[in-house]
Amino acid sequence: MFSVAPYLSTRGGPVRPNVIYSSYAMPDCTACHAPVDERPFASFKEPIFGREFALYRCRGCDVTFSVIPSEFPLRDWYRKADQFYGETAWIIHPPPQDDWRFRYFFKSMRRFGLAGELLDVGSGDGRFLERALGEGWRGKLNGVEFNPDMARRRTGDFTVTVSPLDEFLAKHPEPAYDVIVIFDVMEHLAEPGAAVRRIAGMLKPGGYFAVTVPNEGRLRLFERESWDFPPNHNTRWTSQSLRALARRNGLEVVELRVSPFSGRGLSDQFFYPPWRRAVPLVKRLLFGREAASEKTLGQLLDEHPGGAAASALGDASRRRQIEVWLSRIFYVLTWPVLGPLSLLLCAAAPSRRGAGLYLLTRKPEED
Ligand SMILES: [Zn+2]
Repeated sequence: MFSVAPYLSTRGGPVRPNVIYSSYAMPDCTACHAPVDERPFASFKEPIFGREFALYRCRGCDVTFSVIPSEFPLRDWYRKADQFYGETAWIIHPPPQDDWRFRYFFKSMRRFGLAGELLDVGSGDGRFLERALGEGWRGKLNGVEFNPDMARRRTGDFTVTVSPLDEFLAKHPEPAYDVIVIFDVMEHLAEPGAAVRRIAGMLKPGGYFAVTVPNEGRLRLFERESWDFPPNHNTRWTSQSLRALARRNGLEVVELRVSPFSGRGLSDQFFYPPWRRAVPLVKRLLFGREAASEKTLGQLLDEHPGGAAASALGDASRRRQIEVWLSRIFYVLTWPVLGPLSLLLCAAAPSRRGAGLYLLTRKPEED
């Protein structure tokens, strides 16, 4: 069933014979637009439509990237991929109170006095905006989200525009925002360089721009992270490539941090592979093979609110809590084995091997 292959590591992965790339034109880097004169170092065949993507490394800015043709049916792909990975909306990120990305941002908010008109690019279900309300954000909160289903889940006193991101960014060229944040979205974009240039243009002078991305250098025990390949993730970032991105767009680097490497993170690496396999099973047990074929578990539970499963598991936020508690119990139970392993890895792997990168930049004041 899980026949995704081949999984390739990003550095030094196996290189397919060059002959299959004879028809590839050498592309420009999607982050810095410099022409790339090397052949791709790897390729990935996505499992939904069977399309093969080449992975390039840009020597100029240190980004790994793939080119996503504009005619690729991305919306359709995501709809089907949800089902393929047995995905539910609630297994990707921890709840807002546990999320290191938000913790770092609100620390910056207090340290540098961030306030005013804020835009969350790719606001998803509005969890960051919700937390910003709770943290007492001083100013107006806005979001833009391309997925209407996600945007509909928002609750709270903020404005979310449903629009493809590139369209929204192109339509709002004026410097209208004091703070713009983009959490784990940039790696999904086909043209991240163009998007950040536009974002920099939307910032008022003296305004702040915060971005998080997965860390390409993170410690990975299991290389099988099929979500880290095109057309889902189209760029991979290092501290160096993030700094270069800021410089190119006239932004000053204020903070660059790596998420902490934790015992809990290690435990999650063991918890989530079986969890992801369990979700489709649970789906089939509760709703039968046929009913479960097209939809995610979250969607099915929402559609059958009267059922025993739905009343036991509750709404999306209740389900997120259940998942977090299960992963905590797993953490405690496996600690006798994973604890020593975690200490060993911490000694061997410095903090820069954490899973994510956080960059805070500032647009210089005009003279
Ligand atoms: Zn580049």
